[in-house]
Amino acid sequence: MTGERLTPIVHRRVFNCYLVAEQDGLTLVDTCPSSAAPKVLATIRALRVPLRRVLLTHAHRDHVGGLDILARAVDGEPEVIIGRREAALLAGDYSVRNGETEPGPNPRSYGHPDTRPTRLVDDGDQVGSLRVIATPGHTPGHISLVDVRDGTLLAGDAVSTIGRTAVSGDLVWRWPFPAMSTWSKEVALDSARRLLDERPARIASGHGPVVGDAHASLEAALSRAD
Ligand SMILES: [Zn+2]
Repeated sequence: MTGERLTPIVHRRVFNCYLVAEQDGLTLVDTCPSSAAPKVLATIRALRVPLRRVLLTHAHRDHVGGLDILARAVDGEPEVIIGRREAALLAGDYSVRNGETEPGPNPRSYGHPDTRPTRLVDDGDQVGSLRVIATPGHTPGHISLVDVRDGTLLAGDAVSTIGRTAVSGDLVWRWPFPAMSTWSKEVALDSARRLLDERPARIASGHGPVVGDAHASLEAALSRAD
């Protein structure tokens, strides 16, 4: 079901990160926890294509935990890219920003790699073939990505697909952690509606299998969560 450009890496059955093939090499979307680094590196080496970029959907530990190991281990210096708002959280600044109505996020969920971002992105920016969609809610600066070549939605934790497709903040007992670590369910629901409008072809989320019937499953997830 995955597009041929997408290589999912699944760690301990529940943690996903993805390699996206571009003309100049690979973009790694999220890193998985640090314990997944050997598998991520082995997958990159097996593809025999250089890693050019690490693109982070958000700064939770299970998405950025491998960054330092990977940045040291790969040849060259891959770009490290994260949303502008999320960069503060990656740096350990949990202060509430203008316009945010929720209390500050819970510091315990966030990772703090030594490796610093080299580029900050905003809604509508493009990184290779991936268009950035601001999807705050799970975290204040969470971003999702759409591969403009084939409509694959790399949703980070805006959507989880373990057990069933669920919008961030909607508790699924089989995998309750994304909901438990969600900053604002209300904001997350607005972001999920935005993702529905994108009419993605498939959903590649941070936790769970790639889902092919993206529009229908996202619509059902939204109606359950509302
Ligand atoms: Zn998360």
